[in-house]
Amino acid sequence: MSGRPEVLFPLFSKITSLPGVGPKIAASLESFKVTRPRDLVFTLPYDIIDRRIVETVDGILEPTTLTVEVQIIKHSPAQIRRKPYRVIVKDSQTAINLIFFHAREDYLNRLLPIGETRLISGKIEFFDGLAQMAHPDYVLPTEQKKQLPSFEPVYPLTAGVTSKVMAKAVTGALCTVPFLAEWIAPSLLEKQGWPNFSVALTRSHNPKSKIEIMPSTPARERLAYDEFFAHQLTKAIARKRARKISGRVSKGNGVLQRRVFERLHYKPTAAQTRSLGEISADMSSSRKMNRLLQGDVGSGKTLVGFMALLQAVEAGGQGVMMAPTEILARQHLESLRPLAEHANVTIDILTGRDRGSKRNEKLQRLKTGELKILVGTHAVFQKDVEFFDLKLSIVDEQHRFGVNQRLALGDKGIKVDVLVMTATPIPRSLELAQYGDMDVSVLDEKPPGRKPITTAAMPVERLVDVVSKLRSVIADGCQVYWVCPLVEESEFMDLTAAEERFKYLRAALGDENVGLVHGQMSSVEKDSAMTSFVSGSTRVLVATTVIEVGVDVPNATIMVIERAENFGLAQLHQLRGRVGRGSDASTCILMYQSPLTKSAEQRLSILRETEDGFKIAEEDLKMRGAGDIIGTAQSGLPNFRIGDLESQGDLMMLAHKDARMLLENDPELTSARGIAARHLLWLMEQEKIIGLISVG
Ligand code: ADP
Ligand code: MG
Repeated sequence: MSGRPEVLFPLFSKITSLPGVGPKIAASLESFKVTRPRDLVFTLPYDIIDRRIVETVDGILEPTTLTVEVQIIKHSPAQIRRKPYRVIVKDSQTAINLIFFHAREDYLNRLLPIGETRLISGKIEFFDGLAQMAHPDYVLPTEQKKQLPSFEPVYPLTAGVTSKVMAKAVTGALCTVPFLAEWIAPSLLEKQGWPNFSVALTRSHNPKSKIEIMPSTPARERLAYDEFFAHQLTKAIARKRARKISGRVSKGNGVLQRRVFERLHYKPTAAQTRSLGEISADMSSSRKMNRLLQGDVGSGKTLVGFMALLQAVEAGGQGVMMAPTEILARQHLESLRPLAEHANVTIDILTGRDRGSKRNEKLQRLKTGELKILVGTHAVFQKDVEFFDLKLSIVDEQHRFGVNQRLALGDKGIKVDVLVMTATPIPRSLELAQYGDMDVSVLDEKPPGRKPITTAAMPVERLVDVVSKLRSVIADGCQVYWVCPLVEESEFMDLTAAEERFKYLRAALGDENVGLVHGQMSSVEKDSAMTSFVSGSTRVLVATTVIEVGVDVPNATIMVIERAENFGLAQLHQLRGRVGRGSDASTCILMYQSPLTKSAEQRLSILRETEDGFKIAEEDLKMRGAGDIIGTAQSGLPNFRIGDLESQGDLMMLAHKDARMLLENDPELTSARGIAARHLLWLMEQEKIIGLISVG
C-alpha cells in the first residue's frame, strides 16, 4: 500500500488526456490549479443557466439568457465597416435583432437561412423596446433540440476556456472516476440521504435547478463531507500516532499544589478544576500529552498552567512556560512568582536579553535541576539550553509562535508533555479543523465576581468630552488604556498617531499621568513604560496594539479604542479583555469616525451586545470567513475546494466524530471500509498520513 492505488491512475493522469484539452487549454486550466482530471471533477459549477425553451422573449424586464424558437425574416449586412451585421428573426410574439460583429456573410446565410426556423439561445436585451441578442450561444435546427442542455452548468472559468470546452472536459473527467467502495458509514449515508461518491460527482456537475447548486444539496454536501472526513482522518491518525508515543509518567503527590490552593484568596472555578483534572490525567498516564487549553481572556488559564507545572515538579521533574513576547514572559513571571513562593518552588526567567555570566548561571541551575520552573520567550529554544529533566512544556498564545519554533519544542525532549494555551476563542468547527489532532480542555466559565464591562460607541467628535471625563476618573484613582488607531497597514503611521495622541493627552491630563508604549520601542523602554503603569504611577497608558495579549492590570478599568472601526472583532474583544479584571466596574469606549461601513457598524454593535468570546468568534467567522481568522498557510488548514467551514461547521464536527470512531474500530484501516478510506486519502491528496497509520 505504498503507492497510489491503480484504480485512481486515470484521475491523476495529465489533463491533456481529456477530450478537447490541448496544451493551450491545459495552460489556462493550470492557472486555476487544475492540472489533472481529479482537479477538474472537484471544480464544481457555481451557477446554472436555464436553457429550457420559452414561447417568447416578450415581457422580459432585465437582460436574461433565453432559448426560443424563431423564424428568420431578413438579413441586413453592415452598411459601413465596424457596424454589426443584423439578422431579424421573430418568435411567436415579437421580433428579435440578432447582432454579429466581424461576421462572414456566407457563414451567417448558412447558419440562419431566411424563411426557416431555428432554436436560438443567448442573452436577450432590450434597446428602445426592441429585443436584441448579440452572438447567440447556440443556433440549432429545431430537430437538434436534444443537443441543447436544459440546464447548463457555469464553471469558474479561466480566460480561454469556453463553457462548451469545459463541459466536454468535465464529461471526460467524470468518465475517469472509478467505482470506489464506500468510506462513509452506511448508517450515516442513509441518515443524510447522500448518494455514493461517483453519483454525487455526476449530479454536482449536472445540476437541474438552482437548488442543486446550493451547498446543502445532498450530492454537494456529501462531497464536502468527503473533504472534511479526509481531513479529520489525517488528524485522527496523527493524534493516534502522537498518543502512541510513550511519554513520561508524571504522577504528582499533590503536596505542592495543595500548598498553593491553601494560600489562594479565591476558589478555582469548576472549569479550572475540570481542565486541571484532564491535564493531570494526561500527565499521569504513560502517553505523551498533546493538549490545548482554550479559554477566553481572563478565564484563568495561568493558574491551571501553573498547577500542571507543579505536578511536573512533584514528579521530580521540571516545567517550562513560554510566551510569545518579552513583556508577556515577564508578566507570567510576576504572576507566577508569588504562587511559586507559596509552593516553595524555584522559578526564573530566560529571555533573549539574558547574556554572559548571569545567563550561564541560569543555564547551570537548569541543568543541575536546581531550577524547577522556567518562564521564557523563544530564547528557551536555544541549543545550549539544557534541562535536568524536563517533563512539561506549556506554550501560551501559540498562534504567535512560528511553526518551526513549535517543532523545536519537540527537540527538547520528544517525550515531554505539551500543553498549548490560547486566549483566542474560535468556533468549534475551526477548532476541529485546526486542532483536530489535539485533546482540548475548555475554560468556558469566568471567575465569579467579574463585573460586566459597559461598552459604548462614540463618534470621534466627542473626543473632548471623553478626555474631560477621564480627568475626573483618574482623579478618583482609576487607570486607563488608550489604544491608538490602526491608521493604515503601516506601523510608521500608527506610531505618528500614537505619539500625537500621547502629546495631546499629556497636555490635557498632566505629563506625569500619561505613558506611552509601542512596538518600535526597545524592550527596555517598553518594560519601563509597562512597569510604571502596573505600579500605578502612570494613570493613562497610550498604546498601539502591543498590549493586545495577556497584560494583567486589575486596576485598569477604562479602555478607550480609537478608530475602533478599523479593528477586527476578535482584536477588539482581546483589547477589551484588558479591563474588567478587578472588582470594579469597567468601561470600554469605542471611538469611531463616521460614516461607518455596514460591517463596521455590525462589529461595533456585536461588541456592545456581548462579552462572550465564543459568540463573538462565531459572528467573526460568519462575517469574515475562516481563512482570515486563522491565516490558512500558518494554520496548516487545507484549502477545501467544496466544503465551506463557515456554513458547514456541523459537517466538520460529524467528520471529526466519524473519523475517530473509524480509527477506533479499525486502527490499521484494513477492513473494507478502512481500505476505502485509504482511497479517499489518496483522492484528497492526504496520502502522506498513510505512512503513519499504526501497524501492529
Ligand atoms: P487568562 O486566562 O486571560 O490568562 P489569567 O490567568 O491572567 O487569565 O487570570 C485573570 C485574573 O483572574 C488573574 O488576576 C487571576 O489571578 C484571576 N483568577 C484566576 N482564577 C480565578 C478564580 N478561580 N477566581 C478568581 N480569580 C481568579
Ligand atoms: Mg494568560
